Amino acid sequence: MTRILDELRRLVEAESKTNDLPAIVGCARVLSAVGTDILGSVPLSVSTPHGPVLQWRFGSGPARVGLIGHYDTVHPAGSLEHFPFRIDGDRVSGPGTFDMKAGLLTMLHAAGAVRDKDPGGLDGVLLHCGPDEEVGSPSSKALLQEAVDDGMRAALVYEGAAPGGAIYESRRGGLWLKVVLSGRDAHASRAYEGANALHALADYVGRILDLAAPDLGTTVTATEAAAGTAINTAPGLASLTVDIRSATMSEQLRVLEAMTSMESAVPGVMVHVSVIQQVPPLELTQSRPALESIREAVTLSGMQWPGVATGMGISDANHLSLMGVAVVDGMGPVGGEDHSPREWVSASNILDRINLSASCIGVLRKAFS
Ligand SMILES: [Zn+2]
Repeated sequence: MTRILDELRRLVEAESKTNDLPAIVGCARVLSAVGTDILGSVPLSVSTPHGPVLQWRFGSGPARVGLIGHYDTVHPAGSLEHFPFRIDGDRVSGPGTFDMKAGLLTMLHAAGAVRDKDPGGLDGVLLHCGPDEEVGSPSSKALLQEAVDDGMRAALVYEGAAPGGAIYESRRGGLWLKVVLSGRDAHASRAYEGANALHALADYVGRILDLAAPDLGTTVTATEAAAGTAINTAPGLASLTVDIRSATMSEQLRVLEAMTSMESAVPGVMVHVSVIQQVPPLELTQSRPALESIREAVTLSGMQWPGVATGMGISDANHLSLMGVAVVDGMGPVGGEDHSPREWVSASNILDRINLSASCIGVLRKAFS
């Protein structure tokens, strides 16, 4: 335990906010050293515009099983000054502890335990540590896709566990849209000479809210709006951003399709919808086969079933789901308050999660060889 906490301290004290390249490179160096020590081999370091992606590959055949993590955090350099690494009983706090440097150690030590038991026990396993997950993995996503093209069929993602230790079997996806309504300016006293985009916007917002399907987990939320230039001008231009969350890709596409084909209720106002960002959901259909293997591993080892949960946030598991990989998330330890200066992780739970993962790796290798 002392060893793991010392490694966690080294990783946390190597601050690594996404896009802070010197910091990211520094943390990659520490992670590489820590991982080499645990696994007995040096990672492949692939440089990307967001920093190095570190990968450990085992065996000569294709990697069928991926263990996936990221080492960037949302905490800017200097956060340690007011939020230092700290051990308080079972509670270990510091920037990036829960999201997800303790998860990285869970992954490395689980793999290390498998290898110690059987030198060939990791053949066909790939460990992947990305530098840019907190901004949607713009660079490392391509390397995940490459791994999938090379034969990766199942993956465990080591984000922190759901409350109580549950594993994420699904994560909602997100779609962010910009809507521009363009009509024609006119003096408000003779508004009939123009086409009022603000009136059209008010009506449009009312109608898109009906596209939500709360029973399916689909939400539609208007988030930003702008219109108007003067108190006595009927505006010819209005804009809106909309946040859409859904549990399935088909729901995401249904809302997108409905919004793009929806016409303005005000004659002369045109509606133009564009995608700002689109992240697929982690779908139950993609998590089920991996979850079955985990269930088998838990039964074989006599461990307690950790339970399953739905995640509201987004992770690499979302991308892997769309790539057709059998994937679950939340394999990291229990903790909380990530993305805040109170972020923490349970020290004792790290060992439990290492044991859980170590049992899962063998079963997954067999199921997805
Ligand atoms: Zn994370």
